Amino acid sequence: REEAIPVDSWHKSVCRFCGSGCETRVGVRGGKVVKVEGLQEGWNRGRLCIKGLLNREILYVSDRAQYPMVRKNGQLVRVSWDEALDAAAAGFREAIAQGGPDAVAYYGSGQLFTQESYTANKLFKGGIGTNNVDGNPRLCMASAAFGYKSVFGADEPSGCYDDIEHATTFFVIGANMAECHPVVWERVRDRLRTAPQTRVIVVDPRRTPTARDATLHLQLRPGTDVALLNAMAHELLRTGLVDRTFIDNFVTFRKGAADAPPLTREDFQKFLEDYAPEKVADLCGLSSAEIREAARLWGISQAVTSFWTMGLNQQTHGVAANRMMMALHLLTGQIGRPGASPFSMTGQPNAGGGVRDTGSLAHALPAGRLVSKEKDRHEMEKLWGLPEGRISPNPGLSAVPLFEAMREGKVRAALVMATNPARSLPNADRYRVGMEKAFLVVCDSIFPTDTAQLADVFLPAAMWAEKEGVFSQSERRYHLVQKLVEPPGEARSDLEILVALGERLGHGELLKARTPEAVWDEWRRISAGSTYDFTGITYARLKELPGLVWPCPSEDHPGTCHRYVPGKDPLAKKEGRIDFYARPDGRAIVYLSEQGPFREALTGDYPMILTTGRRLEHWHTATLTGRIPQLQGVDMDYLEMHPGDAAVMGVNEGDLVQVTSARGSVRLQAKPSMRVRPGVVFALMHSMKHLVNAATSDHVDPISAQPEYKMAAVRVERVKEG
Ligand code: SF4
Repeated sequence: REEAIPVDSWHKSVCRFCGSGCETRVGVRGGKVVKVEGLQEGWNRGRLCIKGLLNREILYVSDRAQYPMVRKNGQLVRVSWDEALDAAAAGFREAIAQGGPDAVAYYGSGQLFTQESYTANKLFKGGIGTNNVDGNPRLCMASAAFGYKSVFGADEPSGCYDDIEHATTFFVIGANMAECHPVVWERVRDRLRTAPQTRVIVVDPRRTPTARDATLHLQLRPGTDVALLNAMAHELLRTGLVDRTFIDNFVTFRKGAADAPPLTREDFQKFLEDYAPEKVADLCGLSSAEIREAARLWGISQAVTSFWTMGLNQQTHGVAANRMMMALHLLTGQIGRPGASPFSMTGQPNAGGGVRDTGSLAHALPAGRLVSKEKDRHEMEKLWGLPEGRISPNPGLSAVPLFEAMREGKVRAALVMATNPARSLPNADRYRVGMEKAFLVVCDSIFPTDTAQLADVFLPAAMWAEKEGVFSQSERRYHLVQKLVEPPGEARSDLEILVALGERLGHGELLKARTPEAVWDEWRRISAGSTYDFTGITYARLKELPGLVWPCPSEDHPGTCHRYVPGKDPLAKKEGRIDFYARPDGRAIVYLSEQGPFREALTGDYPMILTTGRRLEHWHTATLTGRIPQLQGVDMDYLEMHPGDAAVMGVNEGDLVQVTSARGSVRLQAKPSMRVRPGVVFALMHSMKHLVNAATSDHVDPISAQPEYKMAAVRVERVKEG
């Protein structure tokens, strides 16, 4: 029936859900989006998953935010834009008057366009003068960002999706790609069909749909990834399945920090003695034979592409685990050539380009610069036309400490854009108190959300096809999302909202770039000469091409699939590719990374591990997908538990169980399943009826400040009826 829908015009765009960034063709008729389908010439070869197909539906769900609102006598009531923006600015001014610039904060999202995140970052760091700029990417991939930067000197993966057709082994750790990045996984399956000798190693505490495709599935105990990866490194070195020439020429060994004294390969090997497979097998819940086999399969492979995401990142050893993943590639020379790439995936459509690359995080500045570096601050002050010393040298508050500071009354006002922290933060009830206490301005395209209900001022935002901007997905590919239709009611683009708020706060001059193209051109210029250089990605090219992958330093440059082609490629310079690691000595770092103790020990009161994740049909806190009629029957409210554990507790399928951690509890329907290990229970992050994050852990990685959603000590009890 859909085929018969008449379309007036077709336009190129990109899916607004996960970080795979599937390219789309959007049909418009009579001022409405009437059809969305996969773009045949896109990297996704015309494919979309169910969420991609529902990009049209989310524009027309019944809860689209349409009017600005201000809280009066405890109720949010409709007001004019002027009144709402005046109220927002007054709240911010009052907070700054009482507590200085650091009494305010911005909390953004990997769902905003690059121009929007860039402008928010500029307004708060350059205009208001606070580095309290963070966002939900802190919750999903901060450990990967810190891992890349500390190992290679620059953030973001080294390869691109074309590696899939060249890989002979896929190593997938902490990623359920068949459900969370399904179209990329379909490309992997294509590879398995055309090259059946290709191997897949999956490391995951759950037997996920991804694990069903595995040659070898290591069902490890949550939080033991560093021990496992060290054991694999031990085995690779012991068996000689490493690339000595590559190590000698392009690798350095350090402990702790990039500027620590260099160590030798022998030091590393000695360090790994405690991680021999037989020594860590019990800790990991695996056999030493399984670990050895994983190392062997990796070591004999011609080209290894590894994929990972939240399972590796969302733990208190997240940076160490990321560094070890990159270390396996470096020890074996599996980088900088077709099929050989360490490849972390992102969960949102623009967490990479929009937030990481623009430096819209509390410690960062645009294009890899850091708040803590004087030279970087001065460069940005110059580029933004600010007096020297304007940007604060103090890193701001990252997500969890930021909401804690709201609880404590230190952060008095915050702008939250395109995200739902009242439901998505770990230990969510604790931080909800902060949002209730502070002056909260919430900007979203859906109303109500859990966070919007706490707002003092609510600003309605346009959605993907109702505004223009750029998204950048996991392989560093920038796409233009065109404005095709008008937003509902009085909703405006987030860029317009930021500029209007900035003007009222006295920073209109700073925000001179006001159209999406003008902001993009400014940001392009700022990237020039950096490892992120994409000055060649003009609006005109974005309109014409199905995206471009940076680095792309000139307007005739085709984009770069492989970064870090170490020193051996004569075409590298000519093509603008980076032929050495972005570190001063041109060497990437293998860190000596300890497994470290668990932040949350299992006890008699809390003897089980709660881990959380996603399913194919829903996304994040289901703010969007939970409102789509076609998905109403898709269950989000269950707790997977091993049948043996369920039997001991006398729990049957569908029984109500209560999961309790030291922080809080949540009630879900029991679902006995062999998917999980004994002692581990699994809940979806999407549930709209129940707050799963009441129980999750807000311990954070000491380097990346990313919370440990993947491992909370809990007890599970059957709830007796009546
Ligand atoms: Fe959208 Fe991700 Fe599905 Fe592609 S895989 S259609 S980007 S949700």
